[in-house]
Amino acid sequence: MQAVSRQLAARGKKVAIVPTMGALHEGHLALIRRAVKEADVVITTIFVNPAQFAPHEDLAKYPRDKRNDILKITTALGRKRSTGIVFIPQAKEVYPEGFQTWVNVDELSKSLEGARRPGHFRGVATVVAKLFNICRPDVAIFGMKDYQQAVVLRQMTRDLGYPIKYIIAPTLRERDGLAMSSRNWYFNERQRWEAVCLYYALQSARSMVRSGIVDVKKITKEMRAVVRATCPTAEIHYIAFTDFDTLESVNAIRRNTICSLSVKVYGVSLIDNMKMG
Ligand code: AMP
Repeated sequence: MQAVSRQLAARGKKVAIVPTMGALHEGHLALIRRAVKEADVVITTIFVNPAQFAPHEDLAKYPRDKRNDILKITTALGRKRSTGIVFIPQAKEVYPEGFQTWVNVDELSKSLEGARRPGHFRGVATVVAKLFNICRPDVAIFGMKDYQQAVVLRQMTRDLGYPIKYIIAPTLRERDGLAMSSRNWYFNERQRWEAVCLYYALQSARSMVRSGIVDVKKITKEMRAVVRATCPTAEIHYIAFTDFDTLESVNAIRRNTICSLSVKVYGVSLIDNMKMG
């Protein structure tokens, strides 16, 4: 892959990268379609990164479907398929024996998912830095679905001085509003139906904001009630209102406020977010 990247750079090709963990859905494919518009060559990476999973998390059972992923990528690339590359490294190549160098984005990694999953963003930032080094992209595309990740990696891109155009693309949703996620594969029909609780809560928050309510406490209370009504067994990890750029929490909705929440639905931790102000 390093040799290919060097050749592409030498030939003056503009390269876009779309890092993923595979088990691709339409949300991923939308990022790939965006990449096609941005660059001559699109590198989709598939790597279920052990460094971003804690020992008790779902690394072993995370869905893997390489064959179908490649078919989906080929379709998404359309006429550009001859210039598409799928890079699927092995864990032992990414983390050779004795590996000990990590990338930490200090402040932005502390809150929200970072607080709930210690070490998670260290794993994410490290692997994405390695993918940037190997693939030498001109453009990188990440999804707003993983809002904190997008902000953390944007900071890393700036701090380490990667000459990369950084794009955050909107979240694709199922018909009922559930954010598309590889983890949705875990659900049976009824559980899947109840998983929409995150979206309903976000919708209720947004309609409160539209009716003029800006108090975060009030909105959070209503959101909790909506989650419980939709999925009585759900466990809410957090509901947070933060500034889009700094991730600082706010007490009242203002311009640039994002509401994000993390909820465990039938043993599966889901996240979602929506712009409020
Ligand atoms: P993952 O495979 O979950 O690591 O996700 C790979 C990339 O796809 C990340 O940049 C995600 O933010 C993005 N992504 C995941 N789900 C969606 C979605 N529903 N809509 C848009 N992008 C998404």
